[in-house]
Amino acid sequence: MPKGKEPILIVGGGPVGLTTALRLSQFGVRSIVLEKNKTVQNELRASTFHPPTIEMLDELGVAAELISIGLKTKCWQFRVHETGEKAVFDLGHIAQDTKYPYRLQVEQKELCRLATNKAEADENIELRMGHKFEGLRQKEGFVEIKVRNKNHKEYKIETPILIAADGSSSEIRKTMDLEFPGLTYPETSILVATEFPFHEHINGLSNVNYVWSKWGTYSLLKLPGIWRCSLYPDVNESIEHAVRPESISEKLNRIVPNQNDFRVLEVRPYKIHQRILKKYHHGRVVFVGDAAHLNSPSGGMGMNGGIHDGWNLAEKLKEILFDGRPLTRLDVYSEQRQKIAENEILKNAHKNRSRMQERDESIRIAELKELKKIASDPERAREFLLRSSMIAGLREIES
Ligand SMILES: Cc1cc2nc3c(=O)[nH]c(=O)nc-3n(C[C@H](O)[C@H](O)[C@H](O)COP(=O)(O)OP(=O)(O)OC[C@H]3O[C@@H](n4cnc5c(N)ncnc54)[C@H](O)[C@@H]3O)c2cc1C
Repeated sequence: MPKGKEPILIVGGGPVGLTTALRLSQFGVRSIVLEKNKTVQNELRASTFHPPTIEMLDELGVAAELISIGLKTKCWQFRVHETGEKAVFDLGHIAQDTKYPYRLQVEQKELCRLATNKAEADENIELRMGHKFEGLRQKEGFVEIKVRNKNHKEYKIETPILIAADGSSSEIRKTMDLEFPGLTYPETSILVATEFPFHEHINGLSNVNYVWSKWGTYSLLKLPGIWRCSLYPDVNESIEHAVRPESISEKLNRIVPNQNDFRVLEVRPYKIHQRILKKYHHGRVVFVGDAAHLNSPSGGMGMNGGIHDGWNLAEKLKEILFDGRPLTRLDVYSEQRQKIAENEILKNAHKNRSRMQERDESIRIAELKELKKIASDPERAREFLLRSSMIAGLREIES
């Protein structure tokens, strides 16, 4: 194989690494995916797929099955817990803009499962589970990578391009000593998965609900068979105290009173960061997904944005490898995706998080009034939904 036609190396078999490999394969580009874990991701993480992402997954041949197990969510809402007053956003307003005018509620692990199966059956992709990236050296025209396999044996591998899809704590980012500027939000979010049927107790819930209440804020997201509730510790309550079963039950009882058993399946506290690399490529090493940018999960844009990174990058790599375009196409990838992440994804996720963390009653009332106005005006609702559904950002790149 001439240099440049050797497989691209992707570190990270999460949703972003796997979908990038599948897209590269569609262009005839071979790749090796290294995933340090021996099994497919199975954690409680992303739950929302936005319309443009479903369109991409459709082209990759995994959307149909994902849709068949997920919940199509045409309307989502902001609401007030005590009064039930709400602003409902209907994706019917963007029906002319997308083949999939809904948010698909299904777990990230399902995409990982489907994409892994697809990658395993793809002759352009070699998936190495249990292989951990441990170091790199950029050389003239290629990158040399140090890997430890599942039998703890070290080996070296060369690649024309290394794609870093190794998530928020990216070893590649750390090895290269790259700054990851941004902030960590003060609050800790507590993700609770439960079989409790909230929809049978609260009138007019959608599958996606962002709720203000007198005692704080919470969100309720429905997934097949379960509800996911995001809670927060009370003022001056330690996280250790807040995650005790009694505290979780007490907090859930504020949402639906007089319940003894919320059938809690999992409780997961996590900190939220907003960070972004200044540049997404450094020589022949290119960053995608959480390795490149982190944002509040409010609005469900992290994984979606990462998949959009891989989509964009795969096209640039095809141009470099097969169409004779220069390596500077990676500058274009970096510029396009970094700008969108900074101006759209991080900004909107921050706005969503700040809106829900607002404690001032009068500001909340004004905010809800404005949201209701937007939701009931078809033109303004469309504009709002094009942004929240991540279509506006992709259109900006196209133009
Ligand atoms: C509670 C929660 C809810 C969320 N909800 C949403 C949502 O609704 N919508 C949304 O879009 N996003 C959401 N997100 C964000 C989303 O989960 C991430 O953006 C997404 O996982 C990023 O995918 P990734 O492939 O870049 O990274 P990851 O999913 O972290 O995958 C990285 C992979 O790299 C592997 N790896 C790491 N280091 C190495 C190494 N040295 N060698 C080999 N392999 C390695 C890891 O094992 C992992 O499998 C949520 C996140 C959280 C925590």
